[in-house]
Amino acid sequence: MKRSALIFFAAIFLPSLVLGWLALRTAGGQRVLIERQAADLHQAETDAIASTVRAAIEEKQRAFVEIIRTLVARHGASALAENYASRLSVAWPDGGIPFAISPQGMLAWPTTSAARQDRNQQEFLVNNGAFLSNKAEAEIYQTQQPFPAKEELKLRAAEPEAAPQASAAEFSELYANKDQAVLRQKTQSQNRNIIPQKNAPADKAAILSKVAPEFSDFQTAVGASAQGILARFVQDDLQLLYWTRPDPNANWLFGLMLGPAQFDRIAADILPEYSNPDTQLAVLNEKARPVARQPAGFSADWKRPFVATEIGEVLPHWEIALYLTNPGQLTESARLVTITLVLLIALALAAILAGSSFVAMDTRRQLALAQKKTDFVSNVSHELKTPLTSIRMFAELLADNRVKEPEKQNRYLRIIASESERLARLVNNVLDFARLEKNHKTYDLRQTDLHPVIERVWEAESLRLREAGFSADWNADPGPYPARCDTDAIAQVLVNLISNAEKYSPDHKDIELRTHVADQTLQISILDRGIGVPRPLEEKIFEAFFRADDSLASGVQGSGLGLTLARRIARDHHGDLTCHPREGGGSIFTLQIPTTND
Ligand code: ADP
Repeated sequence: MKRSALIFFAAIFLPSLVLGWLALRTAGGQRVLIERQAADLHQAETDAIASTVRAAIEEKQRAFVEIIRTLVARHGASALAENYASRLSVAWPDGGIPFAISPQGMLAWPTTSAARQDRNQQEFLVNNGAFLSNKAEAEIYQTQQPFPAKEELKLRAAEPEAAPQASAAEFSELYANKDQAVLRQKTQSQNRNIIPQKNAPADKAAILSKVAPEFSDFQTAVGASAQGILARFVQDDLQLLYWTRPDPNANWLFGLMLGPAQFDRIAADILPEYSNPDTQLAVLNEKARPVARQPAGFSADWKRPFVATEIGEVLPHWEIALYLTNPGQLTESARLVTITLVLLIALALAAILAGSSFVAMDTRRQLALAQKKTDFVSNVSHELKTPLTSIRMFAELLADNRVKEPEKQNRYLRIIASESERLARLVNNVLDFARLEKNHKTYDLRQTDLHPVIERVWEAESLRLREAGFSADWNADPGPYPARCDTDAIAQVLVNLISNAEKYSPDHKDIELRTHVADQTLQISILDRGIGVPRPLEEKIFEAFFRADDSLASGVQGSGLGLTLARRIARDHHGDLTCHPREGGGSIFTLQIPTTND
């Protein structure tokens, strides 16, 4: 028993506890996992929007480049430069301030006289004049593309070109000859102006902007490339400069400066494509103010979005920020998942524990049953042997004619008869029990009067009891006791009960039979003054093979089947058999059989 408890503890209980603990830990991590999953999902969304905005701005740039190419092809570069603003405005309706730079690096448009007419151009000259004509350096953000491949260039060279061409020497001096490593210094990385919630405040990568400015003059920045986008902050306002050199040999540079009005519109056009009831989206500018929102008009703690993506060099420090419509929902669903997991784990553990304790209990029961069966075999063989020995002994004495006195002869014959009866009873009990176990026991049910049946049993039994020194009385309600029953079976129950009363009354030899009819039930009670049945065993004694320790110790022989059989018979007759302690010592066994009148 100790060993199996140890095995149970080591092989089932302990591993279950460890598994449960591990599973609970995993459940605890669910919240983090769900948040991370949601963050990854939404991050992919803002990444996609950011690249769409970037693509839209670059698309505009390509359109601008195409317009310039067409205009230069039609008018020639220097002629276009002279009348740049008016020629461009026909083909480019989106606004902005055009600028052109001559092959000598001079700002050819806006001219000072043109700027005098227009406040915006004037302001442009003040802010950008020195930088664009390479007289001052500035902090810039830029993307650029090189000139197309050679074959394409050859094709283009075949096109008519009216503009005066700068020499190759001039070109390289102007744009390609500078030590870029010295001039194009990367300035220090800057802080991002928002901190997405998904990132811990200590997460450096989230706080620092991925968009890095350079400190450079215009010509170095432009280098030998064909076209590009250059962004810079002028008095805290973002300006976007589209520029292109339509031909590497012509070396004219045409540009267009765009302000917030132009790129706000692009952002606002793109956002509605991403409408989702669970999330709110905003395009935040470099001051972390929303320039477009989806849905319109929502507000949030702009600097603490759930996730965000920087748009990049084309709109430096602008962010696509995503806010959860209902932030509690995420916690709630994480809680739900955790609770479900914990419940499942608890259920699984309970099932394991219940299952194993059931197995343990069953094993114990089987062991106890096996023990009882072993006891039964030794009890029964003893019970068979004792009467057989006396029968044989007395029969031999009589057969050898060694007993002369008729009185003795008579006594010996009676002993032989009663011992045979005991044997028969035991064999009957064992056989009947076997039949009951296999459900093979059949009853011969008939409508009878039980009074004469009881009378017959009592006559024989009381005679034997009195001879054994018992006082035996029958206290009877007047008959008849009509019942539908198998009279042999009922008689067997009575004999078993009387025999028990006799067996378990070693000192006070007093047995009483009471028969009483009430509520359509015949109650047959056998009362004794014997050793009694301890209270907790009053039900157990009806179990097969069970024998109380007291009766074992007192050396009384028995099979542990008599009462089991008697109760089965009683219940098969829709009645019952119960045991109660008797006042003043001893026990009362009561057999109840329903009376019937047909
Ligand atoms: P057994 O062959 O052991 O008598 P039973 O099924 O008839 O088997 O009885 C089961 C147990 O009930 C007995 O072993 C005994 O401990 C207890 N018992 C039965 N009848 C009495 C009684 N009249 N007084 C005290 N104990 C009894």
